Amino acid sequence: MSALRRLDVPAGTRLQLFAAEWRPNPCGIDQLVWTVAVFHEPVGGYLWVRGHGCALGQPDCAAGWCWEGQVLVAAIRANLAGTR
Ligand SMILES: [Zn+2]
Repeated sequence: MSALRRLDVPAGTRLQLFAAEWRPNPCGIDQLVWTVAVFHEPVGGYLWVRGHGCALGQPDCAAGWCWEGQVLVAAIRANLAGTR
């Protein structure tokens, strides 16, 4: 059985990510992301996420998404659980 159960992450989910929970993150910054798509191919405990980091809840860029990164599954779960 896979250690990673499929995560249902609706578009528009707000993810508050701490610096250690996403990559690549060469500047080591926290990031707020408003999800557009989450891809279910785990990479070492991370999932690819596309979304907006520009204006939460009201994207103000012309692109369909403007942020992409690998996010720690545990961080996504914590956000979905509403503990942030
Ligand atoms: Zn954007």
